[in-house]
Amino acid sequence: MTDILIRNAMIFDGSGDAPFRGHVRVSGNRIAAVMRGTDEVPQEGAQVIDADGAFLMPGLIEGHGHISFIDQADLMDLAVIGVEEHTLATMHNARKLLEAGFTSVNSAASAKVRLDAVIRDEIEARRIPGPRLRAASPEITVTSGLGDANRMHVKLHTFGLVVDGVDEVVSTVRMCIREGVDNIKLNISGDVFMPNADSFSTVMADPEVRAAVETAHAHGKRVAAHCRAADSVKRAVRNRVDMIYHCDHADEEALDMLEEARDWVLTGPAIGVIIKSLEMLKAADDPALQPQIDELQTLYDDNCWTHGEMMKRGIPIVVGGDYGFSVNPQGTNANDLEHFVKHYGFSEAQTLHCATMIGARAMDMADSIGQVREGFLADLLLIDGDPLSDITLFQDKSKLTMIMKDGLIHATGNGQTAEAGGRSWLAAQ
Ligand SMILES: [Zn+2]
Repeated sequence: MTDILIRNAMIFDGSGDAPFRGHVRVSGNRIAAVMRGTDEVPQEGAQVIDADGAFLMPGLIEGHGHISFIDQADLMDLAVIGVEEHTLATMHNARKLLEAGFTSVNSAASAKVRLDAVIRDEIEARRIPGPRLRAASPEITVTSGLGDANRMHVKLHTFGLVVDGVDEVVSTVRMCIREGVDNIKLNISGDVFMPNADSFSTVMADPEVRAAVETAHAHGKRVAAHCRAADSVKRAVRNRVDMIYHCDHADEEALDMLEEARDWVLTGPAIGVIIKSLEMLKAADDPALQPQIDELQTLYDDNCWTHGEMMKRGIPIVVGGDYGFSVNPQGTNANDLEHFVKHYGFSEAQTLHCATMIGARAMDMADSIGQVREGFLADLLLIDGDPLSDITLFQDKSKLTMIMKDGLIHATGNGQTAEAGGRSWLAAQ
């Protein structure tokens, strides 16, 4: 296979440092050389892509994906969809994410036990296009917690596996691992609009969390947790949960604990669904919706405060989260980049650092993806424009001039799959 030489690009390497002029040579599936400056470099044996000053950066990393969510308006849609349709929908979502510039997705829960895992394996075998994927379990929750859709005389599965007590937790975690997941997901706190477990409540008991983490870690798997309440964040840190999502209502003590743990813990806000839901509810202009608006507004305000504090304290934050609802469909995940700038006040460079180098930690691939660096895997985006002055560029697929994953070109603007030939994904089939 010939090399690819991307010449004359503005290279953002993922570290957050200012971009620099240079050339990048890709050999096989790896970045063979990153050459600073404008001097010409040897082109022999390479297909040359003239970037003409365009912005070259690592592929985006979705830190909290749910690629088996089907853009549902009602969670009951997940209860009635057939396994066959659901598998195909998940496959299509994987492609959408890649075509939106996300070359990796760390899953934070699959709607059914094996959906993420089978799609991950198909992508890895290069039988379908999609991002690198860490597969997750469904959301393991407690009776009456977030994800328990059952009623007294009706068993309903939407996205949760309902367990109570240490024994059930352990056997469910082991079952998910047997079926091929990389990440175990726990719902430690409740959520907005839950009648008996609101976002300030911490409903999964400490021994249940401890047993889940011990079991997952014993098998070399990671644990992610849904934690909105301050106590749920503390419970997660104490029990060494690897990825603690949301943290909306974290207090000073919870932030101190996260700061202390910042070398090993990761957080991710999933702010997009809150913003879009608030916009939708307000636009409905219906007084009956005011209690829901108030509840979401509190969540939004707390979420923004918490993440401003986290940035000051150097707590690592991944971009993305909870795309796959009707208000924020799959493939619009890059809206999160704008949210980080507009709602948290992060700089564009800080935001892209979160979406690349920090995201690589969520993938457990910090030494091989998330940077434009010699020896790293060739997951690269070429952007028509400067996202450091306009972070919304990623929302326009025609600006994604090249999407490369694992050294293969997947798309070339307008979300179009690259034509067969050369180093395209199609040609590699
Ligand atoms: Zn989620």
